[in-house]
Amino acid sequence: ILVVEDEPDIREVISYNLTQAGLEPVSSADGETALQKAEELVPDLIILDLMLPGIDGLEVCRILKQKESVRHIPVLMLTAKADEVDRIVGLELGADDYLTKPFSPRELVLRVKSILKRSTAATDIAGQASSLINVGEMSIDPDGHHVWVGGRPLQLTVTEFRLLLTLVQRRGRVQSRDELLNVVWGYEHNGYDRTVDTHVRRLRDKLGPAHEWVETVRGVGYRFRRDPE
Ligand code: CA
Repeated sequence: ILVVEDEPDIREVISYNLTQAGLEPVSSADGETALQKAEELVPDLIILDLMLPGIDGLEVCRILKQKESVRHIPVLMLTAKADEVDRIVGLELGADDYLTKPFSPRELVLRVKSILKRSTAATDIAGQASSLINVGEMSIDPDGHHVWVGGRPLQLTVTEFRLLLTLVQRRGRVQSRDELLNVVWGYEHNGYDRTVDTHVRRLRDKLGPAHEWVETVRGVGYRFRRDPE
């Protein structure tokens, strides 16, 4: 786990608690070394503070998500500003999850474990049908985490991929926000309802013309069209 945080006290608390939980933290105090370490070590998860000297967390995240070798790594953003949340889980950034400061170490460890479980679980779900899933012009390779629409590859984050796979596997059936939070995020996300909406919005943006296949069912949730054309 790469921990990117400029405040030594917080960095130590996080690293200590991750170690206690049986994980292996490596830390970075600024964005530039974080980018280097991410490429060198290809960690399973990056915990990224928003406010950093030099390149800030948002920029680090943007750069990571543009690099082929590291874009698949889930990013958990830390922020002290609640009003930054929309931008963090917002459209083009690609952070998979966030925690607002102050948080308890226990909360952090739970969140980290659930993200790690989520990224392996995407492969588990896939294990049920490890062959290519074809829906209309869309092909999904559950094992390789690849999606193509009309032959065009899509660049999805782990969370977006899992969201799409869940909707496609349950196509024709409405999924409530609660169900999606449970299946895709793997825990109760109380008060984080807009997480689902912003991820759906981001997924639709990436789907291009196929965005219509993800339908909003007013007052209930979302549904992937049964027979997309
Ligand atoms: Ca900071």
